[in-house]
Amino acid sequence: MKEASLSRVTKGRNTPPDHRSHDVLVVGAGLIGASIAYGLARQGVNVCVLDEGDVALRASRGNFGLIWVQGKGLGAPAYARWTRRSAGLWRQFLTDLTDISGIAVPFEQRGGVELCQTEQELANRLNQMEQLSAEARDLGFAYERLDAEGLRRHFPGIAADVAGGVFTPYDGHVDPLRLLSALHTALARLGVPVRSHAGVVGLRALDHGGYVAETSSGGVEAAQLVLAAGLGTRSVAEQLGVAVPLHPIRGQVLITERLAPAFGLPTSIVRQTADGTVQIGSSQEDVGFDTGTRPEVLAAIARKAIRFFPFLKKVQVVRAWGALRIMSPDGLPIYDSPADHPGCFIISCHSGVTLSPVHALVLAPAIAGGLLPDGLRTFQLERFHVSPPV
Ligand SMILES: Cc1cc2nc3c(=O)[nH]c(=O)nc-3n(C[C@H](O)[C@H](O)[C@H](O)COP(=O)(O)OP(=O)(O)OC[C@H]3O[C@@H](n4cnc5c(N)ncnc54)[C@H](O)[C@@H]3O)c2cc1C
Repeated sequence: MKEASLSRVTKGRNTPPDHRSHDVLVVGAGLIGASIAYGLARQGVNVCVLDEGDVALRASRGNFGLIWVQGKGLGAPAYARWTRRSAGLWRQFLTDLTDISGIAVPFEQRGGVELCQTEQELANRLNQMEQLSAEARDLGFAYERLDAEGLRRHFPGIAADVAGGVFTPYDGHVDPLRLLSALHTALARLGVPVRSHAGVVGLRALDHGGYVAETSSGGVEAAQLVLAAGLGTRSVAEQLGVAVPLHPIRGQVLITERLAPAFGLPTSIVRQTADGTVQIGSSQEDVGFDTGTRPEVLAAIARKAIRFFPFLKKVQVVRAWGALRIMSPDGLPIYDSPADHPGCFIISCHSGVTLSPVHALVLAPAIAGGLLPDGLRTFQLERFHVSPPV
């Protein structure tokens, strides 16, 4: 529906660029676009951000808030390294962001735990940790096996029959809405125009170099372009003739009433937020662009959490929602700067919370210099291109 209207509006339209000409135009003000724009602005780059507004599908507003390293990049060491690098930058990133924005973002990074119901699950998980450790080579990868007693130290209410878990020290969690708000406030304070309700409906390269983006309120011109529009990236990039294979995978999330502290660390299925609510969720559904919730999926999520933490059975659920993950065919991020579109960068990933620091502090400076950072070549779009049959 959206894609059809996009091409209709673009056709025959040739709005001259407005007087605002920028070094870099970022399309999308979700966690990825906002983090990159923030990093660019801190480099003194003249950046402008265009965002579709509240009608858009926004993963940044519906996610789980984990800073999660454990298990990431199994069989894809470049992704594991990138994720680790980001995890290591969180404190510095957030200190600076808080200074600039004046917004305190609830954040903890004391490690995280993957819970294993059975001995077999625990053995499988430990094998994965071994593999990650081997693939990390000189970087190393720390993890610790927790038996039932070890788990109880972090989670006094854990069920007696849970076999154990795996602790990794790199993990943590953050309030993702506060993070997004801090990024937007910082952008305003750094003088970056963030134009909401300015969905890009057309995009073209200029003859003399650079790009112009068409919005309902006119065109915006810039020397460089960053496409970070979440699921919208696919149709925006099509305007330049670039195929970006992204698809939605829905996740559903439950929020409970506020509780006294009961979870010492975040896990991949349950975390307790700074205000005491418990966030529960781990579903994955291929349902197109449907952001709704389904009672049977929510019930399954709740059952799983109660299996680990029986006391949750008596706790009130106060909210539930569905949100769409932005997935590439192999589940890995996309970092590309197509050779036939100089100065254009296409960025997408399904761990935009975890990777926010590395996007601001490593990717953005590289983009300002016109290049992708070393080590991200493996995430280019060419990996999805298949040769036509001969
Ligand atoms: C249920 C769920 C749980 C998750 N849990 C975690 C987690 O625990 N940890 C983690 O690291 N990640 C998690 N994620 C992933 C994370 O939320 C995303 O990686 C991240 O939010 C992606 O940010 P984004 O900016 O790419 O996309 P979005 O947040 O979708 O933002 C895209 C922006 O682009 C704009 N846009 C779209 N089309 C256009 C257009 N044509 N013109 C202008 N603007 C446009 C939209 O308005 C929107 O603001 C989760 C995601 C989901 C759905």
